[in-house]
Amino acid sequence: MADKSYKFLLDLRQKPGNNACADCGESDPEWTSWNLGVFLCEGCAGVHRSLGAHISKVKSIRLDKWEEDQLRLMESEGNIKCQEKYEQQVPPSYRRPCSTDVQVLKEQWIRAKYERLEFTNPEKQTYLSGRKEGYMWKRGKDNNKFQSRRFVLSETENTLKYYNKEDAKTPKATLKIDQINVTFVPDKIGNLNGLQITYDNEGSTRNLFLYTEEGKDIVDWYNAIRSAKLNILRVAFPGTDDEELISNLTRDFLKEGWLYKTGPNKGDAFKKRWFTLDNRKLMYYPDPLDPFPKGEVFLGYKNKGNAVREGVPPGFKTQGYPFTIKTPERNFVLSAEYEDEQSQWMEILKFVIEKPLTPQDSSSRFRYK
Ligand SMILES: [Zn+2]
Repeated sequence: MADKSYKFLLDLRQKPGNNACADCGESDPEWTSWNLGVFLCEGCAGVHRSLGAHISKVKSIRLDKWEEDQLRLMESEGNIKCQEKYEQQVPPSYRRPCSTDVQVLKEQWIRAKYERLEFTNPEKQTYLSGRKEGYMWKRGKDNNKFQSRRFVLSETENTLKYYNKEDAKTPKATLKIDQINVTFVPDKIGNLNGLQITYDNEGSTRNLFLYTEEGKDIVDWYNAIRSAKLNILRVAFPGTDDEELISNLTRDFLKEGWLYKTGPNKGDAFKKRWFTLDNRKLMYYPDPLDPFPKGEVFLGYKNKGNAVREGVPPGFKTQGYPFTIKTPERNFVLSAEYEDEQSQWMEILKFVIEKPLTPQDSSSRFRYK
């Protein structure tokens, strides 16, 4: 009987929509919520289990015993029907997670859909109001401690402000919403709800590191910023395709990690640095949570004197698994500790320099020192 139901569910999984997790899109899902009638990946099934059986009843297609009526329910519902029901009104600026996204985005997407019913009750989408105020834990620039700070987002002013003192009239900093980037960095901050805001501060990149106690709160901040930014960009760039604006609301980093780096001269020793690749900008830091990068490298187009090569230029010291980034200005000699890190970095760096520059890329270039 178990074999028979497994075969039945495998056939059902071949139907359109069912061959990818209903919540994150991972292929060949092995789990289900049989009362919702959806196929789920293992990770999303775990979140469903935490919602409680009054919302979602989780079963494995392979490991569990199935009743006839449960199989019929799976057959009559399916991923597409369920998505039509629970994703009726997902705002265009809302970040829909994919399987490789951070846990907090996936978990809150699932809770928003089935637990809070946010996408069938638009009045619950408070992140669309253009205004949000509240407290976040923010890492201090000088003392490196996380302290509770009041943040105020205003779409009409195009500002995100934060205040150091509870009753302060003047903000400690005022950021322009259309000029900030927001991305989740849980590992770096050491908190599941860790968020990084990046903006340009007098020609240099400035990083803010934040988190909130509740996953819902940080994802609401994230989507509030995305929503405000979309509305501001729509006004600033009338006639631009909404899809293009939406794809530019926030950028996740292409890659981050430790590498060793020499100075510009032959004989320079290698120093350990944290590298962040943000689109065409490669930044390095002594500490991953530094407020400012120690250096920034602009990666231009491959035909204009930009290249990535294995090894070091003649006369340079070597160690580990080295590679060199050539730019018109200078060579950056880097080294990975392991061979697979070297190939991953080289692959992604080559991918970036093989992309032609967009007008936005070219104008941002002038900010580099
Ligand atoms: Zn999933």
